[in-house]
Amino acid sequence: MLNKKIKEILIGTNNIGKLKEIKDLLPKSTKIYSTKDFKLKSPKESGKSFLKNSLIKAKFFSEKTNLICLADDSGLEIDILNGKPGIFSARWGGAKNNFNKAISKVFRELYKKDKNWKLKKIKARFVCALTIYWPGGKLINSIGKIEGYISKNKRGKNGFGYDPIFIPKNKRVTFGEMKMNDKYKIDHRFKAFKKIKKFF
Ligand code: IMP
Repeated sequence: MLNKKIKEILIGTNNIGKLKEIKDLLPKSTKIYSTKDFKLKSPKESGKSFLKNSLIKAKFFSEKTNLICLADDSGLEIDILNGKPGIFSARWGGAKNNFNKAISKVFRELYKKDKNWKLKKIKARFVCALTIYWPGGKLINSIGKIEGYISKNKRGKNGFGYDPIFIPKNKRVTFGEMKMNDKYKIDHRFKAFKKIKKFF
């Protein structure tokens, strides 16, 4: 089963930004279903790692639909915050997943940790775990990371989530200022996807 190319797949996310990005990574010939097609709500992310949470989502959506499912769990890790928000990245945005609220919390937490944080290089990375789950229980997964820094202020209107405050290493602009297609070619999701591309 694992060596058969995947021709149709459900993308296990209710996040429009991620859905768009994952759709762009898959071959044009792959038939793609989204959770909206089945009116499915996301399961509770009770795992303690990105990998575990991506598995929880992929298994849940696959079992609900009997389709092969690709799910992602991702987030931002900030070193001086001991890796936070990490797996809580979406939850820092509150019940409505408000990205402005999440970014304000990052700035608040950084300020609490170090009043002079804006004068320093604040190391951070985006992490993405992907799981493909086949009906019957077979699964594979992969992880991708991109290193960078937290910007002193919000910059740029592209992308989603923490994009306006993340500057990838060796770049001067935030993900929010980059063209989406340029971000897609270097980010954590792209790197994780590269490792499982052979299944499509
Ligand atoms: P979850 O994987 O659905 O639990 O949520 C991941 C959260 O991490 C998102 O809601 C965003 O806040 C953040 N995140 C993950 N990937 C990205 C990205 O590529 N850009 C900006 N924020 C991201």
